[in-house]
Amino acid sequence: MFAIAVSLLVLLSACSSVPPTGPAAGRALIDEAAAAMGGWLVLDSVKSQEIITGGTDVEPLQAVEPTGQPRLINQFGQTIVVDFEKNRMRLSFDAMREYPSRQPVKFVEVLDGDAGMLETPQADGKTTRERMHPSRYATRLRDMRRMPIRILYTAKNAADLTREPDKIDGKVTINVLRFKDGSQPVELQLDSFNKLPLRVIYTEDDPIYGDTFNELTFVDWRDYNGVRLPQTQAIFLNGNKIREERVRTLINNPKYEESSLTIPAEIRSQPEVGERIVSQWPLRRLVMGVNYLDFGREQKVELVEVAKGIYHIKGSDHHSMAIEMKDHVIMVEAPFFEERSVAVIKAVEEKIPGKPIKYLVVTHFHIDHSGGIRAYAAKGATILMQETNAPFLKTLLSRPKTMRPDSLAKAGSVTPNVEGVKEIKSLTDGERTVELRDLPNPHSSGMLMVYLPKEKILFESDLFTPGTPVDPSNTLGVQNAVALLAGVNNANIQVDRIVGGHGDVAPLRELAKIAPAGKPAS
Ligand SMILES: [Zn+2]
Repeated sequence: MFAIAVSLLVLLSACSSVPPTGPAAGRALIDEAAAAMGGWLVLDSVKSQEIITGGTDVEPLQAVEPTGQPRLINQFGQTIVVDFEKNRMRLSFDAMREYPSRQPVKFVEVLDGDAGMLETPQADGKTTRERMHPSRYATRLRDMRRMPIRILYTAKNAADLTREPDKIDGKVTINVLRFKDGSQPVELQLDSFNKLPLRVIYTEDDPIYGDTFNELTFVDWRDYNGVRLPQTQAIFLNGNKIREERVRTLINNPKYEESSLTIPAEIRSQPEVGERIVSQWPLRRLVMGVNYLDFGREQKVELVEVAKGIYHIKGSDHHSMAIEMKDHVIMVEAPFFEERSVAVIKAVEEKIPGKPIKYLVVTHFHIDHSGGIRAYAAKGATILMQETNAPFLKTLLSRPKTMRPDSLAKAGSVTPNVEGVKEIKSLTDGERTVELRDLPNPHSSGMLMVYLPKEKILFESDLFTPGTPVDPSNTLGVQNAVALLAGVNNANIQVDRIVGGHGDVAPLRELAKIAPAGKPAS
């Protein structure tokens, strides 16, 4: 009995032995991790690397529905050459994009000290060279600092490095280090068994989700001439995978042309326009080959009156529409992010003074069409969208936003109003009527189109770009246009003109021309 009690006591004390925490324990743990990877001497000897990987980008916020299967964006090959001593990198990205249509996405980035350069091949075979967007540059620097060969140095050099209590993940005990990289809080997790880095978690601002855990995971470690490095990496945002890549070739201290890591003076002297915001958002956009350039930059807003009191709000490649009612304004679409909405709201308030924005209609939940809703909620507008997406919007409106506080975060006690639309909802002031109608389509389930019966105007996003003929070889594009025409015909509405969430304003016949199969079944 006594023996059992003693052994139980030993067992209990072993279980409850708490590892040390704090700055000194943090430094000691970094040394253990370095030893596991080959030792500081070996790590110090790696002055540069060439890494060739292959992988895929996926996007949960381009799925058909918010909880649906993330869309496969591309399959890519990527080569990076990094010179750690001079803080230089050349990244060559070569992808075949699968969504929104099949086409190549290729570019080369050069980071050279305090400047970045983007090289883009053109259709005529020439290459354009320009100063890189500041947020793209800043986010790539983050990526350099968290490379497997660099992450221990990044942690070690942080003044506030500290070890925190272990975490348990299933059967794995995780050692936890915390520090700040610039202004970003970082958690570095090590496998307590072999002391190798498991994942790096950055808390950063996402225009859609606000404070977001951006997680880079390392798996499948092997030996590269005395240095242990992971063969597979993946990136997760709030637990959703957005990229996975696997090493094909990795060379420590490779040979490279000096000029390949150098930015010419004529590019370096170009002004850097915009803010350096570390966020995965621009990278998620550019791997799709779509626009991210307005991020962190001054917004251009252009109001085009398409009918009395109805404005197409342009200036970027994602548009909104403002509808003036008797004593309020109805807005359609809040694309991109907070800064876009703030600029659009200001322009609308100037054009239509004294009338509050009472409603915001969101066509669908995609990353580039829902990021600006919080600014409208802060103004007290009721957010309207197809009912299946209402839970998703409610989540966006309730997310913390402390890294880059927006107008809703600053507004404090505002309780946003979200209203789901089932099939049809009419908004009227007695004179003007605005109909929100469910629009079945293959691009995104739970989509609304906005119809004005008197003016015979229809606003839609992503199914058809007014002013741009649909490429018949673009299967998805044709399917979308067909769905829009079918939606119009099935609703039995009289449409003269389509106002685009992208593109321009065009007569309905332009759509009918390219989507003849969209005729309703008789
Ligand atoms: Zn979309």
